[in-house]
Amino acid sequence: MIRSFLIFIFLLASFVITSFLTDNYSYAISLKAKKETLSIENETWWKSAVNEMVNSQIVSRGVTDSRVIEVIKNIPRHLFVPKEIERFAYSDGPLPIGHGQTISQPYIVALMTELLQLKGKEKVLEIGTGSGYQAAIISKLAKECYTVEIVEALAKKAKETLAELGYRNIYVRADDGYKGWKEHAPFDAIIITAAPEEVPEELIKQLKVGGRMVLPVGTDYQELVLIKKLKDKIEKEVIIPVRFVPMIMGLSQR
Ligand code: SAH
Repeated sequence: MIRSFLIFIFLLASFVITSFLTDNYSYAISLKAKKETLSIENETWWKSAVNEMVNSQIVSRGVTDSRVIEVIKNIPRHLFVPKEIERFAYSDGPLPIGHGQTISQPYIVALMTELLQLKGKEKVLEIGTGSGYQAAIISKLAKECYTVEIVEALAKKAKETLAELGYRNIYVRADDGYKGWKEHAPFDAIIITAAPEEVPEELIKQLKVGGRMVLPVGTDYQELVLIKKLKDKIEKEVIIPVRFVPMIMGLSQR
């Protein structure tokens, strides 16, 4: 009788000790994982990468706007791309962000932003939210950024990323960008980060007189175009040849 009681106590004690240890063990693992994530966010590894990116890809190619340069230096581009490729986030090219879409090459992001000539008080419309990276940059240079993304999953992800990183003046909407965002029009500036075949008329309508719009236009051959909406005419300037993902025709356009 006493023997079975002792065996029972022994088993009970081993059970308690084992579960305590495993609990502690998994707690230790989750702490370690957390620390690793945090260290990536906090540490300065990306600071030297972003400085190198700005100097060798952006300034060297002729971008001079110091506000644009400063803002780009302070935005962790690696947190806008899938984790598996975050170490390539500061390299000289576009990167996949899922759903067949890409985050644009850093130089093109900088050039397009510079062309908008934002001073800080503007209401900006972006078509093609993608990862949210371009919107993050705009939000630091203007008053607010309204951004429209046709792929719902990307819009959701971008919204989450931007909220986590603390951006409060960016409004993301999952919809067809050809329609713009009427409720908030007119905009001081519009940027389109996917290529339509022609400049979308509705978006010109939603641009203020005196406003600027930057977009890639074309199919196989594409050009980056700067549009200035003046009182009685539209001025168009071709900047450079570019390569963007096509702007998808939403149901309203087909
Ligand atoms: N600006 C983004 C990169 C955009 S890639 C960034 O900083 O990450 C182009 C994006 O335009 C893609 O996410 C694509 O889904 C979106 N897009 C394509 N056609 C669209 C349309 N008609 N309306 C809104 N978004 C569109």
